[in-house]
Amino acid sequence: MAAARLLVGILALAAVALYVGPYRQGLEDEEALARVASVIAGRDVAVDCPGTLAALTEVSAHDGSVRFGPDGRPGDEAKLSSRTCARLESLLAGEIEGLECLAYDTRCGGELERAAVAVNVLSHEAWHLRGERSEAATQCYALQTNEDTALRLGASPEEARAIAAFVFREVQPALPPDYRTSACREGGPLDLRPERTAWP
Ligand SMILES: [Zn+2]
Repeated sequence: MAAARLLVGILALAAVALYVGPYRQGLEDEEALARVASVIAGRDVAVDCPGTLAALTEVSAHDGSVRFGPDGRPGDEAKLSSRTCARLESLLAGEIEGLECLAYDTRCGGELERAAVAVNVLSHEAWHLRGERSEAATQCYALQTNEDTALRLGASPEEARAIAAFVFREVQPALPPDYRTSACREGGPLDLRPERTAWP
């Protein structure tokens, strides 16, 4: 009887460990992503990643979103898709190798390219959290901060430059028209560092 109870106790503990392990890691990752987003947002903001169950039933096609209130002010949280979160978590864990490839090559493999896109999603949503509503301006600022975002996620300087270059070169031209503007250029009105000649 005592042995049976002990066994049940151990089984229950194992179940809790199985559930709590990934759950706790998920929370730590959300906090790490929130710290990165907060730098851009200029205030404390949160990042929400879908839990395991929500990820299974996810239907939204959006990689990320920020809600704006009727007063035109952003909420305090960015919601990211499960695939965006998974890629950012892999970056945080240092599990993605060969990111430097993105600096020149157009064929580095889907995993690397999707990781770069995820970095851009995080930068982009963080600019919305800062209060920018225009998609074109938001995306222009994201282009200029992707390198910093990648560094804060743990990428090396070389990897971070490669990620930012890839997004600018391959992702940006393929975005829908509302995400692009001719104002997004070196020395243009959306240039965050007009004194600098490097672009983005
Ligand atoms: Zn947006």
